[in-house]
Amino acid sequence: MKLKVCGMKYQDNMNQVAALQPDYLGFIFYEKSIRNFDTECIPELPKVIKKTGVFVDAELNFVLEKVSKHNLQAVQLHGNESPEYCLKLKRHYEELSDVVISSKKTDCHDFEKKYPNDKLEIIKVFSIKDKFNFDVLKPYESVCDYYLFDTKGKLPGGNGYTFDWNVLNNYPSTKPFFLSGGIGINQIDDIKAFQKSKASKYCYAIDVNSKFEIEPGLKKIEDLKEFKNKLSNNIMNYNVNKKGYYGEFGGAFIPEMLYPNVEELRQNYLKVMAEPDFKKEFDQLLKDYVGRPSPLYFAKRLSEKYNTKIYLKREDLNHTGAHKINNTIGQILMAKRLGKTRIIAETGAGQHGVATATVCALMGLECIVYMGEIDIARQAPNVARMKMLGAKVVPALSGSRTLKDATNEAIRDWINNPVNTHYIIGSAIGPHPYPDMVTKFQSVISEEIKWQLKEQEGRENPDYVVACIGGGSNAAGTYYHYLHEENVGIIAVEAAGLGVDSGESAATSVLGKEGIIHGCKTLLMQTDDGQITEPYSISAGLDYPGVGPMHAHLCKTGRAEFMAITDDDAMKAGLKLCELEGIIPAIESSHALAIFEQRTFNPDDVIVVSLSGRGDKDLQNYIDYFKI
Ligand SMILES: *Cc1c(COP(=O)(O)O)cnc(C)c1O
Repeated sequence: MKLKVCGMKYQDNMNQVAALQPDYLGFIFYEKSIRNFDTECIPELPKVIKKTGVFVDAELNFVLEKVSKHNLQAVQLHGNESPEYCLKLKRHYEELSDVVISSKKTDCHDFEKKYPNDKLEIIKVFSIKDKFNFDVLKPYESVCDYYLFDTKGKLPGGNGYTFDWNVLNNYPSTKPFFLSGGIGINQIDDIKAFQKSKASKYCYAIDVNSKFEIEPGLKKIEDLKEFKNKLSNNIMNYNVNKKGYYGEFGGAFIPEMLYPNVEELRQNYLKVMAEPDFKKEFDQLLKDYVGRPSPLYFAKRLSEKYNTKIYLKREDLNHTGAHKINNTIGQILMAKRLGKTRIIAETGAGQHGVATATVCALMGLECIVYMGEIDIARQAPNVARMKMLGAKVVPALSGSRTLKDATNEAIRDWINNPVNTHYIIGSAIGPHPYPDMVTKFQSVISEEIKWQLKEQEGRENPDYVVACIGGGSNAAGTYYHYLHEENVGIIAVEAAGLGVDSGESAATSVLGKEGIIHGCKTLLMQTDDGQITEPYSISAGLDYPGVGPMHAHLCKTGRAEFMAITDDDAMKAGLKLCELEGIIPAIESSHALAIFEQRTFNPDDVIVVSLSGRGDKDLQNYIDYFKI
C-alpha cells in the first residue's frame, strides 16, 4: 500500500519526510487551512514522489497556476467540485503543459526536466461519516484517477479522527482509492485488519496528516518512519538497513587499516547526496555530458519474434558506451566534496576503467587504474583509451592476474593512501556503503523507466524488469524503484559460461555459497575450504566470482528469478539483436537478451530489458566467434 503524507509546510521538514520516500507529498492551497502552503517554492524533491496540490472549490485558473508553478503531478479536490470541473481541469492541463514546456521556466522550476505528456492525476475527495451513498461516485468514474475517503468534519480535512471503514464494504467501484482521516500510528493494527477485508481490495494508499504533527504542518519524522516501516512490514525490505545489510548479506568486512576511509564515506555519503548543489551538478552532468535520459526503445521486431512486448533501456547510448558512467559521475562528485585529489579504480574488461579515467579528466584529478596483467593484454583498446584520457594503468601481477587481483591491488593502494585518495568501485559490491551508494547512483535508470513507460504504455510498472549481473550495478539500477512493487517480476541473468556444471562458469546464484569477498558478505563461488573459485565467462564484465549483496538477498528471498545463460546462447542473442533491430549489444547485455529463447511470456506482457552497453568493445570477440 502506498503512503501519502499531507499538509507539508516547512522546507527542512519536507526534505526529511522526502528522505523516507513516501509515494505522495501533499501541499494544501487553501487560505482557511492552518496548513495553507504559502511559501514561495517547493524544494527540488525526488521525482518518484508525487507532489500533490490540495484545493477546496478553487478557481480553475488558481489550480492551474499552482500546478504549473510547483510542477505538481497530482491534484486533490476537497470541495464540491463537479465532474465537469474535473474534466475541464484535465483538458486545460493538457493545453497548459504544451505552453509550459515551450516556455521552459517558471519561478520555481526548470521545466526542461518536466516529462512531456505527463498526466496530471486527479484525486476526488468524498467525506464519510457513518453512512455513505456510493451513487454519488458514478459521474466521477471517468473524470478522475482516484477517490479519497476522508472523515466528515467541520472543515475539509485535518479533523483528526477516523470514520468507520466498514462502510467501504459496499464500495461498488474498481477505482483505486486513498484511505484518509485521522490515521495515526495507533491505527496500524486496524489497517492490518482492514487489509485482510474485502473493502481493502481497491485501497491504493493511506493518507496521513495531523496525527503525525508536532504543530500544524510540522511532521514528526521518527513516527512517520515507524509508521511506514510497520505499514510495509508484511512485505520484505529489499533496501539496505542502517548497518549496511540486505537481509543477511552485506556489511563491511574490512582490514582495520581501511576503517577510517570507509567510515568517512559511510558518515557522509547520504548527507552529500541529499545536498541540493550535489543533486543539481549530478543531474546536469548526466544530462549534458552523459546524454541522459537514455531512450526507452520499443523493440518491435524483437517483440514480434517472441510474441510479447519488449522494451530496451538504452544504456548503450551513454557516453563511454555503458551504464558505468552513471556511477563514476556520482562518485567523482562525492570525492570532490570529500576533498580528495587522487582517484583509484579496479577494472576487468576496462569499461569501468574508461568511465573512471573519463570523469577524472573531466574534473582534473589524478587517476590510477589497477588491471590484471592478463586483462591488459586481452583488452588493449580500452587500455589505450584510459591512457589517452590521462590515467595510469598499473598491472596486477598476483593470482590469476584478472579482476579479483586488480581489486586486491586497489584496496592495498587505498590502505597506503587513506587521506587524499578515493576508491571508485565499479559495481554494487564492496564494503558498505558502496553497494548502496552505487545502487543509488544507478537508480536513475529505473527512475527514467517509470515515466518513459508511462508515456508509452500508460503505466509506470512493466510486468518484468530484466538485467544481466556481473557485480550487479546495472541490475540494481534497473530494479531499484520496482523492488517493492510486487506486481513487477524481477529477472536476473548470470553467465553460465560453458555450462553451469562445466566448471567454467560465473553462475554465482547456483554455484555460490555464503562467503566474504572484497569487504562484503554475499554469495560467492568457492571451494569447500573457502578458497575463491576462478570464474569464467566469455564476457569480461560478468566474469566475477560473486554478486552484490542486494542480489544475494533477492536470490535468497525469491524476490528475483535467476537465470543462467551460456556463452553460446548469449552470442546468438547478440547477433539476433543486430539482425532484427540494428543494435550491436555488449556481450554482457546479450546474456539478458538470451532469456527469450528459454522462457515464454504472455503476448501482452511488458518486459523492460537493460541494454547495459554497446558492443564496440566486443567486436573482435563477435568476429572470432562467428568467423565473420
Ligand atoms: C561492467 C558491465 C556489466 C556488469 O557489471 P554490473 O555491475 O553487473 O552491471 C554489464 N554490462 C556492461 C556493458 C558492462 O560494462
